Amino acid sequence: MSNSTKYVFVTGGVTSSLGKGIISASLAKLLQARGYSTTIQKLDPYINIDPGTLNPYEHGECFVTDDGAETDLDLGHYERFLNVPTSQANNVTTGRIYQAVIEKERKGEYLGKTVQVIPHITDEIKDRIQLVAKKGKFDIVITEIGGTVGDIESLPYVEAVRQMLWEHENDCIVVHLTLVPYLAAAGELKTKPTQHSVKQMMELGVQPDILCCRTEHELDLNLRRKIAKFCNVSMNAVIESRDASSIYDVPLLMQAEELDKVVLEKLGLPKKTTPNLSNWKSFLERLKNPKKEVTIGLIGKYVELKDSYKSISESFIHAGVANEAKVNVEWIHSEKLSKDNIESQLGHLDGILVAPGFGSRGISGKIEAVQFARESKIPFLGICLGMQCAVIEFARNVLNLDDAHTTEISEETNHPVISMMEEQKSISNFGGTMRLGAYACQLKPKSKVSKAYNSEKISERHRHRYEFNNDYLNQFEKAGMHATGKNPDTGLVEVVEVADHPWFVGVQFHPEYKSTVDKPHPLFVAFVNAALNHKN
Ligand code: GLN
Repeated sequence: MSNSTKYVFVTGGVTSSLGKGIISASLAKLLQARGYSTTIQKLDPYINIDPGTLNPYEHGECFVTDDGAETDLDLGHYERFLNVPTSQANNVTTGRIYQAVIEKERKGEYLGKTVQVIPHITDEIKDRIQLVAKKGKFDIVITEIGGTVGDIESLPYVEAVRQMLWEHENDCIVVHLTLVPYLAAAGELKTKPTQHSVKQMMELGVQPDILCCRTEHELDLNLRRKIAKFCNVSMNAVIESRDASSIYDVPLLMQAEELDKVVLEKLGLPKKTTPNLSNWKSFLERLKNPKKEVTIGLIGKYVELKDSYKSISESFIHAGVANEAKVNVEWIHSEKLSKDNIESQLGHLDGILVAPGFGSRGISGKIEAVQFARESKIPFLGICLGMQCAVIEFARNVLNLDDAHTTEISEETNHPVISMMEEQKSISNFGGTMRLGAYACQLKPKSKVSKAYNSEKISERHRHRYEFNNDYLNQFEKAGMHATGKNPDTGLVEVVEVADHPWFVGVQFHPEYKSTVDKPHPLFVAFVNAALNHKN
């Protein structure tokens, strides 16, 4: 372990969904604002190698990093709060840990020893925790342990934390999140679940240093005293974490509770300056006092679970603030859209976004939505599959290639306007066939996109198998759908625009992964601006 790095472990007890990711990101923000270089890592106790093969209904969106890692959506929060890119090292799953250990065993690296959870799995976990620190030379690494203490799956992680505390006691602390529920009938907040949760941690050999108590009501001094006494923590280490109206309020709420100060004290680090959060505060100020309002439809097939499009909805929050507008996102199920109802479903919208996705479910509704946006001149943004739908729609309805399709859905189509690149076809391992991570893109001067970015050279993240089929490019260009962004190395089309339209843009990449509070994404900002113009 490098002597300069300190470690904060964030665990959760009582129930899931307490918001460990947001608390971790908020703490990191406060430490960063005090001048400490900080990163956050998520350890996920499930056995999948990564969330890339998981249905979004399971864990929400799959977030993609510059280095092409398919990761947990919490990494999106980390990037949005810190404005610092994460990488594969920031997200580790049990599957990945076991895979690494088993590969080492096959190579004979354990020299004939019996390979066991302790020490081999726990060593691998500890190595992964320390790897992040080494890679980025961070002052502080915050490691969030997924799941809830007491789960069988989390045991090796808590054990790894116990060992790290023992081996480097001056460099590690544990922040434990719990729930202090309110019993309406008794009119009281209850501390017993917190006591039990801490007891459970102690049975595993870990004494939390700080307790973050999620609560709907104020934790008064008596309650704080009680929790401190029963759980062996100091009074100032009992942190109240009230429900907030926006996740972006949480850093300020944690600052008011002095979470960052207590953390630095316990880590033995100087407090340096008070955090400089002026940008953050002005963002919040504008978020809460919008001057205008705009309604944008998000057409997707996972709209029942809003976490499936987390980065998109957060990008709209950032872009709204940049435009001093509140963006109302209307979630519209693509499976419910048809020719007969499209006008009544989408006619009132100021902008239409067709979401990314895989497979055939809901595709015809997405294509209908594109046609409606194009013909009614409503601002349109198509992302990944959304861009592919825009290409298919244009081929069918403008180029009159009736059965034009993507080969993802119809291999027999006579007009594969979206198809798979030759070199990808031979790969059979499902996790390995995608174009993932950051690629360069060259934009055409004077296009809507180059205006939006105010630049002609950009880099954006990808997650897809299929591509615009360049055999058709001339036909599209002649009819008014232009390729305004291309990969400079391969010539693959990355952006399409319809010339005869106020704002119609389809992008093969995922701009939503790069929008942050400090840097709202230029495409979303331009799209919201176009929607505001449409409204007026
Ligand atoms: N299914 C499409 C592809 O693989 C689009 C993927 C996406 O929208 N992320 O190319």
